[in-house]
Amino acid sequence: MSFADNLASIQQRIHAACARAGRDAQSIMLLAVSKTQPPEAIGQAVQIGQIFFGENKVQEAKAKIPSAPGKARWHFIGHLQSNKAREAVELFEMIQSVDSLSLARELSKRCDQAAKSMPVLLEVNAAGESSKFGYQPELLRSELRELASLPRLSVQGLMTIPPFAADPEKSRLFFRRLRELKSQCEDVLQTPLPHLSMGMSGDFEIAIQEGATIVRIGTALFGPRKARPV
Ligand SMILES: *Cc1c(COP(=O)(O)O)cnc(C)c1O
Repeated sequence: MSFADNLASIQQRIHAACARAGRDAQSIMLLAVSKTQPPEAIGQAVQIGQIFFGENKVQEAKAKIPSAPGKARWHFIGHLQSNKAREAVELFEMIQSVDSLSLARELSKRCDQAAKSMPVLLEVNAAGESSKFGYQPELLRSELRELASLPRLSVQGLMTIPPFAADPEKSRLFFRRLRELKSQCEDVLQTPLPHLSMGMSGDFEIAIQEGATIVRIGTALFGPRKARPV
């Protein structure tokens, strides 16, 4: 299957999932997760009409983004170390994986130096897995006001990666928890948060049913991941 076939099929499935959930398909952003994929694959995807791409390593993104078509827009979805914050601010238009106050402060400072603002999502470790990054919900609730008050960051919502499960129905509980947590955050901040980034190749339809606004899809679009080029 070509990227074009895969994209058409994913778009159709997004439409169908939205129809079942009584949602507008325009409300879903499809983020093509291009990690490990070579620049040619990205060039081809842009030509077919895909605009939004997700990368999870700053080093790799730094090598790829400058040579990608200018139409492509980039979101960071991996664990970000503070010492890479400056580069991330240069490369990405959204950082979906803010998982600590110290990182958020560093990002705000680097944005200030670059005279930019950055939309961010707060990553939640919804199952409390020690192998994963992301906020525990209690800590997120307690740091939320300070996160939202950082001058150069704009908190737009939450992101999560549920535990891997062969049965996508197993993700539903974590998606639901993320939606509920977003609603609690909106109460605390007294402002709507537009985004819930949840759902990957194996479980995006369930994520849409549970309220996702951004689905992050890699292998179902590009095929199996390549060995990392960098
Ligand atoms: C790799 C990755 C994805 C995409 O996973 P697929 O199962 O290939 O769709 C989504 N989100 C994050 C954070 C990732 O690292």
